[in-house]
Amino acid sequence: MRVAVVGGGIGGLSAALQLLKAGLDAHVYEQAPRITEIGAGIQISPNASRLLHRLGLGPAMDAVGVRPLAVHQRRWDNGRTLQRAPVGREVEAIFGAPYYHFHRADLATLLADALPPERLHLGHKLLDLARKGERVTACFENGATAEADLLVGADGIHSRVRHLLFGPEKPRFTGCVAWRGLVPAERIKHLGIEVASHNWMGPDGHVVHYWVAGGRMMNVVCVVEHGDWTKESWTDRGEVADVLARYEGWHPTVRALIGAFPETFVWALHDRAELPRWSDRRVTLLGDACHPMLPMMAQGAAQSIEDGAALASLLKAMPGDIPSALARYEAVRKPRATKLQQASAANRKRFHLPDGPEQQKRDEAMAASGDRSIANIGWLYAHDAAVV
Ligand SMILES: Cc1cc2nc3c(=O)[nH]c(=O)nc-3n(C[C@H](O)[C@H](O)[C@H](O)COP(=O)(O)OP(=O)(O)OC[C@H]3O[C@@H](n4cnc5c(N)ncnc54)[C@H](O)[C@@H]3O)c2cc1C
Repeated sequence: MRVAVVGGGIGGLSAALQLLKAGLDAHVYEQAPRITEIGAGIQISPNASRLLHRLGLGPAMDAVGVRPLAVHQRRWDNGRTLQRAPVGREVEAIFGAPYYHFHRADLATLLADALPPERLHLGHKLLDLARKGERVTACFENGATAEADLLVGADGIHSRVRHLLFGPEKPRFTGCVAWRGLVPAERIKHLGIEVASHNWMGPDGHVVHYWVAGGRMMNVVCVVEHGDWTKESWTDRGEVADVLARYEGWHPTVRALIGAFPETFVWALHDRAELPRWSDRRVTLLGDACHPMLPMMAQGAAQSIEDGAALASLLKAMPGDIPSALARYEAVRKPRATKLQQASAANRKRFHLPDGPEQQKRDEAMAASGDRSIANIGWLYAHDAAVV
């Protein structure tokens, strides 16, 4: 069975690797002339890392990833940690796979390197699809075509495949604007920041930071409400002074991190309506193409990796019955992805509460049981998406 995967992001590359492992003839078609990722970090939790380890990628992941010791939920003003949940050895022992922090480019590169080169078709921007009987033909801007039994749109939040299947759709600006920065370790040595993920929550905004690139850099993302920047691009430069102005009065560590940005990039966070379905005959979607989510659960890429695992298992289990496999794929994946979209949206509200009784209630609840306690997070980390 030949499967054409459109999009060579984390979702598309990991899906192709999982499809190949399941014995399918998978090819990736990526519009860019080379595999790149933006200069930013990404957290990969055990529900996704176990799937990548199964592909034999453990040593490559350990070579470039950082294994954090904990996750801190902190207050914006005095820096008090409400919860320090361990995610190091304890999480690995319980869930059978580690928690990682990566520079995105490191993760994308190790996935691409694991793919046989003849299966990665760069410079292939999908324009259109043609369907004839039980075959799908992808038509690319460079004039090339590719025939397959199944086409998977892993082409991200602006998915062309989604557009071709279900028509045009306008994204909604959420009102949140994010700035990101990568700070070289030597600039912030004096801050003595633990190898952990730190989530500072305050009125109308939050800041997340963690070490990446083997500990050589700190990835920092600052999200605020009521932003006036509405462009959804990962490559627009912002002003460090503007970020500092929005974080006036925040803890000195937060301000020191922002002040150490060599440069910053700004983008507006957008939302898309939940899709009623993901597939149409022999074409389906995965990752941000079908379930983009706000970053407040750090699960968008993890869910795209899970999608690929479920799809590969189902196609292997139901050879020759693609429509049934796709129906089952949607049935097992959509409820979980939707739950995470909703949890991310709910976290946006909780993380950004103004000072007052509601915020105090949140702080007490976090201190008492914590979002990331083993009891509260087990449903997410223990899930094995390949078991369908
Ligand atoms: C601030 C922020 C922080 C985040 N942090 C985390 C985190 O810690 N952990 C986590 O799991 N998730 C996180 N996410 C979410 C995560 O980044 C995304 O969910 C994930 O990258 C989606 O992967 P994807 O492969 O589905 O799409 P993409 O990464 O968007 O890849 C799509 C690919 O398709 C290609 N493409 C597009 N159109 C075409 C076309 N017409 N033809 C051919 N190729 C095409 C693109 O060039 C691209 O390579 C975060 C998101 C944000 C905004």
